[in-house]
Amino acid sequence: MNYRIINIKTTAGSDPDSSILIIYTGGTFGMAYDEAGSLAPFNFGRVLERIPELKSLDLKITVISFPEPVDSSNVSKEQWIDLGYIIYENYHQYDGFVILHGTDTMAYSASALSFMLQGLQKPVIFTGAQIPIGFIRSDARENLITALEIASATKEGVPIINEVCIYFNFMLLRGNRSQKIRSSTFAAFDSENYPRLAEAGIFIEYNESYLIPANKKNQLKFYNNFDDNVAILKMFPGINKQVVEGIFNIEGIKGVVMETYGSGNTPNSAWFLNCLKEANKKNILLLNVSQCSGGEVIMGRYETSKQLIDLGVIGGGDMTTEAAMTKMMFLLGNENKTEEIKKKLQIPICGEMD
Ligand code: ASP
Repeated sequence: MNYRIINIKTTAGSDPDSSILIIYTGGTFGMAYDEAGSLAPFNFGRVLERIPELKSLDLKITVISFPEPVDSSNVSKEQWIDLGYIIYENYHQYDGFVILHGTDTMAYSASALSFMLQGLQKPVIFTGAQIPIGFIRSDARENLITALEIASATKEGVPIINEVCIYFNFMLLRGNRSQKIRSSTFAAFDSENYPRLAEAGIFIEYNESYLIPANKKNQLKFYNNFDDNVAILKMFPGINKQVVEGIFNIEGIKGVVMETYGSGNTPNSAWFLNCLKEANKKNILLLNVSQCSGGEVIMGRYETSKQLIDLGVIGGGDMTTEAAMTKMMFLLGNENKTEEIKKKLQIPICGEMD
């Protein structure tokens, strides 16, 4: 990929407090209206003109921009791998990383990066905006400036954050616990099943006992494979056999995240359970997560989830759909043994479930 690299001349002089790499992927943050009246991403050179404050931070800031900034609805595993590589290759040169990304799929990308970059000992902070930087009421400026502050924050010389997070609207959230839950207010994200990692007011108050602690012995391990032969099967009243069979009969399908009701319930009609039985016989991984943002899957709690265990359905606990989906793609891409994948789907790899 032909990245554009921009060094921002800050007033920090020769001995800045920290060095931060910003990776600009696109999203509303840097969008403007095109001739047809739709929002489309523009390049980081123009973004910079809108945030002169960056130049007065006591940081060394470098920006790597995707050659073609994208609306995050177009993000797929290729962009995750590019992002992972950029961080891996620059890991020792910078103290922290800020990724500017569209909000629509930010929770997926943050989850994917958390699985790719294991043993992380530096902050990787995703942020973006609901209103583009060129607009007077934009949230872009605050989101970026505070994300930079978090990405450079240390305590006794050690980074406070050692994981992939989303910073948005005064909240720092664990990336693989986050979901975009609102499309038209500034508070776009939350993590219903995990406490916020920090709140930004006059001071940034870190919720220290919920952070992944620093561990100098950890070495960064970079994984760069994802298998996208996966699908999501969302339950809805009236779901019929053709739909369910259609998903399980997709050529090459290896895993299905089932978004079920409440604490993991599905219809228990014979045809539905039979579809699961057939899928299981074909070695398709079946991972059960809830349609509710809060709470967890407890198979067997109700009669409507009891048989799922015998049919090989794996309980996804309190994982978000975003974490479940990217974890399945990640494990299918990096592990050969099905038993190992099944085991890892049920235990936390990097704080994505309890
Ligand atoms: N469609 C935009 C994107 O995800 C929305 C945003 O950034 O808020 O790229």
